[in-house]
Amino acid sequence: MHGSNPLSLANSVDTALRARARQVIPGGLWGHLNAASLPEGYPQFFARGEGCRVVDVDGREFIDFMCSWGPIVLGHHHPAVEAAARDQAARGDTLNGPAPVLVDLAELMVGMIPHADWCLFEKNGGDATTAAVTIARAGTGRRKLLVARGSYHGAVPWCSPSLAGVTAEDRAHIILYDYNDVASVEAAVDAAGGDLAAILVTAFRHDMARALDLPDPVFARRLRELCDAAGAALIVDDVRAGFRLHLGGSWETIGVRPDLSAFSKAIANGYPLGAIAGGERWREAATKIFTTGSFWCAAVPMAAALATLTELKRIDGPAVMARMGQRLRDGLARLAARHGVAISQSGPPQMPLVLFDDDAGFAKGSAFCSAALKAGAYFHPRHNMFLSCAHTEADIDTALEAADAGFAAVARMG
Ligand code: PMP
Repeated sequence: MHGSNPLSLANSVDTALRARARQVIPGGLWGHLNAASLPEGYPQFFARGEGCRVVDVDGREFIDFMCSWGPIVLGHHHPAVEAAARDQAARGDTLNGPAPVLVDLAELMVGMIPHADWCLFEKNGGDATTAAVTIARAGTGRRKLLVARGSYHGAVPWCSPSLAGVTAEDRAHIILYDYNDVASVEAAVDAAGGDLAAILVTAFRHDMARALDLPDPVFARRLRELCDAAGAALIVDDVRAGFRLHLGGSWETIGVRPDLSAFSKAIANGYPLGAIAGGERWREAATKIFTTGSFWCAAVPMAAALATLTELKRIDGPAVMARMGQRLRDGLARLAARHGVAISQSGPPQMPLVLFDDDAGFAKGSAFCSAALKAGAYFHPRHNMFLSCAHTEADIDTALEAADAGFAAVARMG
């Protein structure tokens, strides 16, 4: 199917669905999956996914480098995960209490994550980051929360990137610092005075539309020291990177252990689940706070998570994705050089970003993506992408052929 995807969506099923959606859904779609900001030709609606491929409602097939913006870590429709989910669904999902798989999953995670003595489950990443902050405040009796400027932690008022509908009071106890900048964190800790509850930090700097920065180990160690000195919680927001870089939590790669970690996205290969993993010191606070949701004890996503994490461990998923991500990165570098196009690649190989030099308005990135999409690869021009364990060398090589068409399109722009 590759090489023949039509770019025009006129008279397509996708176009008709978008028109209907605009009538009954605000803006056609809320949030990060709204395709309006994607380059020309990108579909909004999808029919199915299998392995590292997705098929849109018009039957166009793409090698997928967004993986549902993170959740798909083993590949779409992974047989072991689907079997576990089906098996649990046959017995029940949302019951009057959790199924035994809750305890199995918590035990697996406590065994896998060195800083975890307990786990607590929610649905989305924003549930997990919000509850982690609440636990830190309950455990310290303090209010101030240090957050890196530009980092994304969810779509609720204390952290939403939009200020529409947000009050100043929602942000009253948030103090900003700059990622990887020790002096700015020290200044923020000083500003918090005796009221510091937590420092919140993403696994690496993955703000939209700028190069990705890995955490400087000196910076990470300093956060640990500052939290220890103040008796505050170090919270790693591992929602986006969790289980792609390291199965013990992403900061195991740099040897710094948080007090609390927030996970979601990849934990259950597409089934809805969020989690907090925490150390002993925070168990009592996690017991005291009131945190819950109608679907938080649903058993099917937990069964899916148990199967996902077990499989990731069996195959060393992070290493598999790192190898394939590196193959993609090396191939893109070769092709860009061949076309005389200057790019910069950043981030861990499992979660790469490709930016074009002198491309402030992302015209080159968009042209690259549209042409690659037409040739069968689904890349993103501004957001970090995601590898899955279903990407094989052959898939990467096929995607590189599509990227070749993308670079040719950029080269033609002059
Ligand atoms: N934290 C980070 C680092 C994220 O990337 C995201 C989602 N992109 C969230 C929190 C929020 O997760 P969710 O959308 O599942 O609420």
